[in-house]
Amino acid sequence: MKTIAKSRLLLLAAAAALAACQSVPYTGRSHLVLVSAGEEKKMGEQAYAETLKKSKVSADQQKVSVVRQVGYRLAKAADKPDFQWEFNVIEDDKQINAWCLPGGKVAFYTGILPVTQDEDGIAVVMGHEIAHALARHGAERMSQGMLAQGVGTVAGAFLGGNPAGQKVFEQAYGLGVGVGIMLPYGRAQESEADHIGLIIMAKAGYDPNKALDFWQRMEKATGGKGGGPLDRYLSTHPINSDRQKAIRGWIPEAMQHYKPRN
Ligand SMILES: [Zn+2]
Repeated sequence: MKTIAKSRLLLLAAAAALAACQSVPYTGRSHLVLVSAGEEKKMGEQAYAETLKKSKVSADQQKVSVVRQVGYRLAKAADKPDFQWEFNVIEDDKQINAWCLPGGKVAFYTGILPVTQDEDGIAVVMGHEIAHALARHGAERMSQGMLAQGVGTVAGAFLGGNPAGQKVFEQAYGLGVGVGIMLPYGRAQESEADHIGLIIMAKAGYDPNKALDFWQRMEKATGGKGGGPLDRYLSTHPINSDRQKAIRGWIPEAMQHYKPRN
């Protein structure tokens, strides 16, 4: 009896895992996502509102308008009708950082703007960050955490507004401890965001070749160290020849989507 019950349970778990297996747009990689897109979006919107409340949202029209201009172009290319896109600049010159939460909630810190320099540079970062959201990397990380804790906690823990669910979300996105300080994604996720980001920027009319220039400036600006998702990744895996080679390798694919704007 016990063995039968156990194997039935295993079958159920396998079925649940199969149902939750999804494939990442553009790369086709299959990954396990145990959080519904709706719940993920709701948590993203809540975390965004809270972060903006605690931050100094920039009213510098020059900075804000260029970030929004690039943002809306890339949002259109990302083609996510269920996202309600929002783009804000947060005044903090020390943060060489940017992120995009589920639902299309984007923040750029003023500290990254001297490194992005122009619309092309903003498009590189924006593409990379939007790619994390499109590929549902945060939900993937949450799901890995949930699996580690036992799949049984899924049903209750992730209902929107549930403090326990919100906490896991904030940990996954690193928003809990200090505003805007994000935990690094995994190396494979960063690489995937580089790849998808190039396609999104190209679709939006930005030359993906500019990505190589940006990442070189980024390396100079951070000296291989820093405090954001982009540069923290660089600090552990500096923009070495491998990453540059990977980006170069994806550029021909991205160029197939490229139509210069104007
Ligand atoms: Zn990243």
